[in-house]
Amino acid sequence: MSGDVNPFESLQEQIDDAAAHMDVGDDVIERLKNPERVLETNLSVELDDGSVGVFRAYRSQFNGDRGPYKGGIRYHPDVSRDEVKALSGWMVYKCAVVDIPYGGGKGGIVIDPREYSEAELERITRAFATELRPLIGEDRDVPAPDVNTGQREMNWIKDTYETLENTTAPGVITGKAIDSGGSAGRVEATGRSTMLTARETFDYFGKDLYSASVAVQGYGNAGSVAAKLLEADHGANIVAVSDSSGAIYNPNGLDAQKTKEYKNETGSVTGYLGAKEELTNEELLTLDVDLLVPAALENAIDGELAADVDADVIVEAANGPLTPEADDVLTERDVTVIPDILTNAGGVTVSYFEWVQNRQRFYWTESRVNEELERHIVEAFDGLVECYEAYDVPNFRTAAYVVALKRVLNASEEAGRWP
Ligand code: NAD
Repeated sequence: MSGDVNPFESLQEQIDDAAAHMDVGDDVIERLKNPERVLETNLSVELDDGSVGVFRAYRSQFNGDRGPYKGGIRYHPDVSRDEVKALSGWMVYKCAVVDIPYGGGKGGIVIDPREYSEAELERITRAFATELRPLIGEDRDVPAPDVNTGQREMNWIKDTYETLENTTAPGVITGKAIDSGGSAGRVEATGRSTMLTARETFDYFGKDLYSASVAVQGYGNAGSVAAKLLEADHGANIVAVSDSSGAIYNPNGLDAQKTKEYKNETGSVTGYLGAKEELTNEELLTLDVDLLVPAALENAIDGELAADVDADVIVEAANGPLTPEADDVLTERDVTVIPDILTNAGGVTVSYFEWVQNRQRFYWTESRVNEELERHIVEAFDGLVECYEAYDVPNFRTAAYVVALKRVLNASEEAGRWP
């Protein structure tokens, strides 16, 4: 992982790359390269031993031209102001590329949640929700889960908000448990859009996913569900997976579901008996495979590592897994990369469905959710290909940003400038 690449600078570079193919002034683009506002706050919370813990937290609202700010909340020791800004910007362009009526936001707390008890995490989460209260709302800013947060944290945030506002407003946050107003299909949505994007990409290039070799970096929510669906629905051969403990490999295929069950039981994928070999994460990323799915964190592949990547296709389940330098190297080497803002957009798309259901107080079946998701992702993929073929762009990422920037720019121009 390349720690010295600033993800916010990566985002700005990606926007500049796309703007270079469009008839738009630098002054207009400048606004779309920076957040509208960022909350930085220090949460002070009583810990179980009676001492006070102070936790830095952020919420970035990047752009709201197309609808309420939308984006997850991450708990991680590496959360920083620039990371949150970058992630909130990627949300703007992600929502635009799949054409759902949201802007982009993101939040995070600088914390290693493994070091705190559940009761402490609840107090920390509720303290953050209290700080967020003036900013969020069903029509203002709608958070969601991200790394190390899930239904439990979403339920706490919803409850804190509703209690303080003296109302019920399940649409204030998405990614909730079903009984608290969550949507069927939300947990699997990011892995599902990753699978759908891989399927459409293979189809476009006339390749077959059946028996295709697949390596997955990061075996959490996004990575493990993608692996499971690629294997179960398309007969792909998941040859390697990894998590922060290391990587495992079996050229004849690991059973995606059993590997996940093993990780759930033991906390890591290493040691799984269905593996033939253990690898380092770098070795996994440079395996000779048909499909590589980075599904961990940002900057997993830098320029140096990209020179050794031996996959034909990369679908980015994680946000920002390639540095801009890696992107250039892979474009040069003709490796197809389908960008994060489309590949992992299933999460926010089903969050959108959850919000729609919350607003209507009318809930859909899982099959309806999955059908609507497939329609959105396939339409977005077709739009991406159309742009890729029509514009003289170097890769699918730039094409995706052209599609997204155009939509954001149109909304922004139509709104006009005031005050
Ligand atoms: P998660 O916490 O469930 O899983 C992350 C996984 O990555 C874990 O298995 C962890 O061990 C592993 N990991 C961490 N560092 C690693 C490293 N250096 N090498 C290998 N593995 C490593 O998180 P998630 O929800 O699956 O999110 C993963 C990525 O997908 C993030 O970039 C996130 O922003 C993105 N994403 C997630 C969703 C969603 O709905 N879950 C939606 C959109 C984007």
